[in-house]
Amino acid sequence: MTRRRNIAQPPAEIMWHAVPVYDLLESTRSSASGLQEDEARARLAMHGLNQLAPSKRRGPLRRLLGQFHNILLYVMMAASAITAILGQWVDTGVLLAAVVLNAVIGFIQEGKAESALDAIHTMLAPRATVIRNGRRYEIDASLLTPGDLVVINPGDRIPADLRLIAAKDFHVEEAALTGESLPVEKGIEAVAADAPLGDRYCMAFMGTVALTGQAHGIVVATGANTEIGRIDQLLAGIQSVTTPLMRQINRFSYWLALVILAIGALVFVFGTLARGESVVAMFMMVVALVASAIPEGLPAIMTVTLALGVQRMARQNAIVRRLPAVETLGSVTVICTDKTGTLTRNEMTVQRVVCAGCEFNVSGVGYGSAGNFSSGTDPADAATHPVLAPAIRAGVLCNDASLRQDGEHWLPAGDPTEVALLTLGHKAGLVPESENAVMPRLDSIPFESANRYMATLHRDAQGDSWIVAKGAPEQIIELCEWQLTDAGKAPIQVDYWRRMATDIAARGLRVLALASKGAGSSQLFLNANDDIQEGFTLLALVGIVDLPREEAVKSVHACHQAGIRVKMITGDHVDTARAIGAQLNIGVGKPAMTGAEIALMDDAALRRVVHDIDIFARASPEHKLRLVQALQADGQVVAMTGDGVNDAPALKRADVGISMGLKGTEAARQASDMVLADDNFATIAIAVREGRAVYDNIRKFILFMLPTNGGEALIVIAALFAGIALPLTPAQVLWINMATAGSLGLALAFEPPEHGIMRRRPRPPQAPLLSAFFIWRIVFVSLLMMTGGLGLFLWELSVGATMAQARTMAVNAVVVSEMFYLLCSRRITRSVLTREGLTGNPYVLWAIAACAVLQLLYTHAPFMQAIFGSSDLTLVGWLKVLAVGVLVFICSELEKLLLRFFRERRGAIVHTGNQT
Ligand code: ADP
Ligand code: MG
Repeated sequence: MTRRRNIAQPPAEIMWHAVPVYDLLESTRSSASGLQEDEARARLAMHGLNQLAPSKRRGPLRRLLGQFHNILLYVMMAASAITAILGQWVDTGVLLAAVVLNAVIGFIQEGKAESALDAIHTMLAPRATVIRNGRRYEIDASLLTPGDLVVINPGDRIPADLRLIAAKDFHVEEAALTGESLPVEKGIEAVAADAPLGDRYCMAFMGTVALTGQAHGIVVATGANTEIGRIDQLLAGIQSVTTPLMRQINRFSYWLALVILAIGALVFVFGTLARGESVVAMFMMVVALVASAIPEGLPAIMTVTLALGVQRMARQNAIVRRLPAVETLGSVTVICTDKTGTLTRNEMTVQRVVCAGCEFNVSGVGYGSAGNFSSGTDPADAATHPVLAPAIRAGVLCNDASLRQDGEHWLPAGDPTEVALLTLGHKAGLVPESENAVMPRLDSIPFESANRYMATLHRDAQGDSWIVAKGAPEQIIELCEWQLTDAGKAPIQVDYWRRMATDIAARGLRVLALASKGAGSSQLFLNANDDIQEGFTLLALVGIVDLPREEAVKSVHACHQAGIRVKMITGDHVDTARAIGAQLNIGVGKPAMTGAEIALMDDAALRRVVHDIDIFARASPEHKLRLVQALQADGQVVAMTGDGVNDAPALKRADVGISMGLKGTEAARQASDMVLADDNFATIAIAVREGRAVYDNIRKFILFMLPTNGGEALIVIAALFAGIALPLTPAQVLWINMATAGSLGLALAFEPPEHGIMRRRPRPPQAPLLSAFFIWRIVFVSLLMMTGGLGLFLWELSVGATMAQARTMAVNAVVVSEMFYLLCSRRITRSVLTREGLTGNPYVLWAIAACAVLQLLYTHAPFMQAIFGSSDLTLVGWLKVLAVGVLVFICSELEKLLLRFFRERRGAIVHTGNQT
């Protein structure tokens, strides 16, 4: 620690909020062009990464010990103590082995689930925009170091503690730190040294979120030295591993355990009093029964299934931030999606430019300077055209994007809409660098989807100031009094421009209007209220193509098949939205609605129409919130995408809020349940599919686990009540449990999504997990298992087998039946009698093979025979055991067949079955 106190490190005791800005650069040894790259590297080496200490995890030992905190294991441990006192050493040993095995399996599964989620944590690592050597970079926020100059835009999460050196209309939400959720306006004036945290207006603190405006700040503390690091609070990340379904299951297993204990007590009383069994023997039996009937693996398997699903989703670019979303995804009925960049490629190219009285087509695809201008059939020289040239120049100046040439390639950065305008400039020979050199920028009002325009202030060589604006035509035309023609400025013909805007939009192009006006030569700052009101000259409209993504077309189709409506919500012109919608098969033949129309409706009216409208254009973020609410009031389960700061409320409100990994803001990401790493609509459909698969697998597991446990218990209970010799000894019951509980069922967690999974209707979210159908299936298969095991046991005895042989047959019959039933469990109502059905999940086959090896050992290995009292089986004996397994298989497949038959007859899809 002392080594770090070096001159390059600003002393931690400095009250940065009390340091005036002009002292700041000196004390942090930074400059207005940021740190030099090598200095930044040296400081990083000294201060360490800008990361908060990972949340305090339980160490492996405590995690292992935690596994023993389980009602079942308590019972088993108590029982093993009692058996030890009674001197029943074999039972003690088997019980203890079962206890340890259970704990170890739980331990490993929990570890697997945690590491799967950890991997996702790193994928969500925040990024930061930093200026170094006078150039902007986007870097991993963990690489920031004291002295770095950081740029903050709306929606960014503040990446370190910053002392602001420039701020414009800069509002920050500091709830993460102070708990105060109202935005705080920040400035650059130093404040008193003893100001409390919430009053340090010149500081922006790590982990808080910028809502509006822009700011530059110098990093003064990173990692654990930041305010948030000091209070040692981990930033919002993935929540704990629990979901509504899991809580339901936990509660269920708890009650089930109690019921089983009660039944165990009854059996004990019945056995000792009515049947006259010895207390010790009955006690052992009851312990074994309870141990095998309680589904101890259930919660652990749920976690693993969920974690595996999350991992599979992450591999396909859907990063889940909140686990319950995985379940909700499976029941989504409506997806509300952005258009630009999600449904479309976001590779924008200007195709048309419309000026007063003349139209131009622009050729060339992609970025770069290849492409020409033509008017009708005549080529046009854009650089000298009296109207076209100023228009293109305006597009280049009023622009925050960049386009660099690197050998053959053009490297775009920033908003694709603006990159398209830079490309247009290159094609006309109006290169951004030289244009900006002639007309340097003084100030800007950045684009916000709520305003739909952007404006910049420039000064020319004569010292005159110019304001350039670009944005949606509705917004820009409002501001204009003039239009630029071949002959100079003329009064604007609003109708002409409106018509042209609609015309461009109807071709599916994004429309942008460009305008400019002169400003006073003394003007240094732009103010939306004063400067962007009137007096502009309209220069041109541009039409920008942005083709739909090919995979989006397929995904929309897949969603429709899956009973999910897809609604497009965009800030674009209504005609652009409809044209693109037509290409994607969204909202065809139905009316579209604009944000203005939404604004005119009250909630009740909106609720009535929202179902039938699939395209919402010129919509602002607050409309999204109302749409989500209206859809939810209509009973829908809504997934909603968003990327801006203002989208956060809608994302929070939606059942599944989805943010964009590439173009999205940190604010949107923090409000979301899931992040699309590739911003692609197709990824949502994939996530829905995986969400459905996870839910399926959990149901499959339950339908496997409960009846196999139940069958085993029924064998013993039935024998007791019938007053015959017990087919399974306590040790044998425990063995079956050990051999099968962890291994067989776990394989179902690896089930891939079924083929028809996206042709089912969404699952009703309120449908209970344990429906009547589930209970029927559990009872049926339990009885089936009992009949197989008990039947074979009795038959063997009746043909003169020894008790040891008959019991060995019974044990094997139960385990082999479970193996066969595991195969059946791969489908809930569909037949598995296909190649895919039988061999589609290699884990199932491996689990069965492993179990078979264990059973061979159990039956034939002398030491096993010594412990469990098993005895060798003949080939015929094995064949009989197999026959029982096959019989169980056939019966449960028959049950499915009948089920399907009756469902079809009823003509309805009962939701419990969901056509699995
Ligand atoms: P989308 O839902 O398609 O992302 P946006 O809110 O980004 O919609 O854009 C809405 C409209 O705002 C566009 O049709 C365009 O006219 C205008 N616009 C988009 N980007 C910019 C920009 N960078 N500068 C100025 N105007 C823009
Ligand atoms: Mg946009």
